[in-house]
Amino acid sequence: MAVYTLPELPYDYAALAPAISPEIIELHHDKHHAAYVKGANDTLEQLAEARDKETWGSINGLEKSLAFHLSGHILHSIYWQNMTGPKDGGGEPLAADGVGGLADAIAESFGSFGAFKAQLTKASATTQGSGWGVLAYEPVSGRLIVEQIYDHQGNVGQGSTPILVFDAWEHAFYLQYKNQKVDFIEAMWAVVNWQDVARRYAAAKERAYNLLLAP
Ligand code: MN
Repeated sequence: MAVYTLPELPYDYAALAPAISPEIIELHHDKHHAAYVKGANDTLEQLAEARDKETWGSINGLEKSLAFHLSGHILHSIYWQNMTGPKDGGGEPLAADGVGGLADAIAESFGSFGAFKAQLTKASATTQGSGWGVLAYEPVSGRLIVEQIYDHQGNVGQGSTPILVFDAWEHAFYLQYKNQKVDFIEAMWAVVNWQDVARRYAAAKERAYNLLLAP
């Protein structure tokens, strides 16, 4: 039985236009995300088989495959929820909208919303090959940080929790933006669902524990 399943989109394929075209959303969710779900499930099965047969010749590849597909599944699951139609999305988090805790944390961690936005835009737009720009809650310091992820799983601080993710893989934008990745990242800001990001920030903070806890 499958451990991981593809979540439904919280909106229809056209909901994020004109920032992201319906064709991209359909392919991205139904094909790309689905492939990571299948890959994670298949890899777990192959690992179970390796344990049963005590055949460890492929262990390195399987562990890498698990990290890749599982991280792909998790990041895309967050990505869909992080966005909403341009009527409700975009702008910046404001206390008046009930997301003051997130707004304060961004200001404390980055100096200002503008400085944060510049860093996440640049980190996303300059990924080499395939990757993501991510705003994450880092539980040891209690600060927010921006991470530039390679593929789905590389270049992250252990224990950090992604709360806002920008997919910078070519499959996320090429049909509409061709090679203009920076234009796509700029357009992404118009569909950010700050209510969702604030919910994730509160949840990450709530369940934070001291990773360096002494015995
Ligand atoms: Mn993707």
